[in-house]
Amino acid sequence: MKCPKCGFDNPDGSVFCEECDWKLNIAYKGEKMAVNSVYLAIAALVLGIVATATAFLDQGIVALICGAVGMFLSGYTQSLVRLTGIQGNVKQRLMVMTTIGLILSVVGFIYGVYLMFA
Ligand SMILES: [Zn+2]
Repeated sequence: MKCPKCGFDNPDGSVFCEECDWKLNIAYKGEKMAVNSVYLAIAALVLGIVATATAFLDQGIVALICGAVGMFLSGYTQSLVRLTGIQGNVKQRLMVMTTIGLILSVVGFIYGVYLMFA
């Protein structure tokens, strides 16, 4: 049975690929996931910027929501990037984008909470 991820030809009846440990009955969606993670990284970055910007414009509730979603999305995107096995420059850029998105989201979120409750 051919591995959908790496193409290694495994003996019939194998459950996991002997070469890369991929579960053979699961279709490999790495490429699609990689494309999705690029969009998600952009979204995480934008949400972080919006969260911080709205916080400084005294829009506490918007900052809080954007910050919360941004934090979740950054973390989710980073694990997705690891799952897809993207390497090199693209991975580095995605990680930088999601990290900046995460930091800005945290700033927006905390400042949003402060505006709401202080
Ligand atoms: Zn494999």
